[in-house]
Amino acid sequence: MQAELQINARWVVPISGPKPLLHHQALFINDGRILAIQDQSATTHTAERVIELPHHVILPGYINAHGHAAMSLFRGMADDLPLMTWLEQHIWPAEGRWVDHDFIRDGTELAISEMVRCGTTTYADMYFYPESAIDIAIASGIRNVTFAPILDFPTNYAQNADEYLRKAIALHDRYKHHERITVGLGPHAPYTVSNEPLSEITTLADQLDIPVQIHLHETAFEVLQSVEHYQCRPIERLANLGFLTERVSCVHMTQVSDSDIQLLQKTGASIIHCPESNLKLASGFCPSNALLRAGITVGLGTDGAASNNDLNIQSELKTAALLAKSVAQDAMALPALEALTMATLGGAKALGIEHETGSLCVGKWADMQAVDLNQLNQLPVYDPISQLVYTDSSHATRYVWVAGQCLLDDGTLCRHDESSLRQRANAWGQRISAS
Ligand SMILES: [Zn+2]
Repeated sequence: MQAELQINARWVVPISGPKPLLHHQALFINDGRILAIQDQSATTHTAERVIELPHHVILPGYINAHGHAAMSLFRGMADDLPLMTWLEQHIWPAEGRWVDHDFIRDGTELAISEMVRCGTTTYADMYFYPESAIDIAIASGIRNVTFAPILDFPTNYAQNADEYLRKAIALHDRYKHHERITVGLGPHAPYTVSNEPLSEITTLADQLDIPVQIHLHETAFEVLQSVEHYQCRPIERLANLGFLTERVSCVHMTQVSDSDIQLLQKTGASIIHCPESNLKLASGFCPSNALLRAGITVGLGTDGAASNNDLNIQSELKTAALLAKSVAQDAMALPALEALTMATLGGAKALGIEHETGSLCVGKWADMQAVDLNQLNQLPVYDPISQLVYTDSSHATRYVWVAGQCLLDDGTLCRHDESSLRQRANAWGQRISAS
């Protein structure tokens, strides 16, 4: 059969399938999907175009399963502060002053350009004016899961929970047939959304069959406050409301008890681990290895650039792998392949899109990246999987494809004008710092 594209690669790490590492493979792409993965010496297909990657490893694109993309324009604005001071005294006032459609468009494009360069093919976003963010995601060619924001209190975007919900439903209706866009519901956190809207969200998510994401157990203070107000931990409150289901991804979970793990097992809810944001805000440590051992799905996220301060999922992956060993006090905890799975298929499962992306399987979308392992800091190569996790590959991602479309072509961004982006980001920085 004739395919549109054939990529010959030195190594392939498919993430699912019987072998973790394949040598000298040919990947065939047709209509945006993976048609076949075969030994280069025994191919049964041909292609219109062939790309030779003799020193590269092909793997699924990374899935950045939690973030607030447009916050890239607040990068470095308020550092070295604890979570609640950072939020209440800096981020929320700045959002009230600056966040509008233009801010979202420029901030989201800046974020996507950074994510694509690091091999990201899907990102989750939870932020205001999602319709503007989605416009940019569509033009950028990336895959996106938008969690429409829901809060009790008024912002520039909506006045109350009802209005946030109405806007979320309209957004879902608009994009429900789009191949690269999924719209879910994003109640911010148990301390910013009350019981009534949380119950409505559960009903609505079931009716529409869509994913839900919430910040949960980010700090010990959040848990303490909930015990005082509700006489239970936040996760128990969510479970009692019937909110916690397999549709729900819980972001952070730095405070995890044995009973929390049992609730996660019982309900099928998943976790998004954001180690660098947790480290920077000194929020605590998510026990990712213990959660995985308990059979809970764990994905990886950068969180917003204002608390990270980058959207480099590769460095997040290395941090996650090292932190897991430290937290478990076990050098064998979260081995490289498992960490890589968390950053790809784990994220896809948590976002409910694992049937379409997250691993290199025949029939799935061709969402993938090629990393050049011929860099001096990566030689010699004994194990490409280990190299991807433990060495700095930030500048080694040479190609990124989403649904077979090339977004990064031998290191060059295909869909973004870098000088225009630079100019707009600097203009926002000057305007915000002058205020
Ligand atoms: Zn967040």
